[in-house]
Amino acid sequence: MNVNHHPTSASLEKVRKLVRIYTEKSGTTTHPDAQVTESIVLGLARNLDELGRPLCPCRFYPDRLEESKHRTWICACDDMQIYKYCHCLLFVNGEGKPITEHLPRDHEGRQTSGLVVDPTPDKGRPLRALAAQREEERRTRPS
Ligand code: SF4
Repeated sequence: MNVNHHPTSASLEKVRKLVRIYTEKSGTTTHPDAQVTESIVLGLARNLDELGRPLCPCRFYPDRLEESKHRTWICACDDMQIYKYCHCLLFVNGEGKPITEHLPRDHEGRQTSGLVVDPTPDKGRPLRALAAQREEERRTRPS
């Protein structure tokens, strides 16, 4: 990714809209430090420009174009839609912490951040039924 490239205003607008809608839907907030949020928004918008999809900017991929063909790390990614966990800290609780309550106990997020309870369990996680498939994919196609 060319981090010097400033994303197009069209992509920025799409990503800002995605963030607005998804915080509302999932009952999360953006990070209290606006600079954290802005850097992720810029990364997502750059990826949208370059790859045609808002691939998560907080991970390393051996082949970004290949990865962008999978749904796994397209924002809002599978971990967010299944577990309400955002490792980038874009969608967090009011204290700026990632929600880890729904993660499998051996997930890196749970091990790094401990237990962070979901303040709005009635919202979000539309793909929660796919948890077993996600864990199978994590084993068979680490990305
Ligand atoms: S971790 Fe998931 S939800 Fe968070 S910014 Fe990356 S793709 Fe989006």
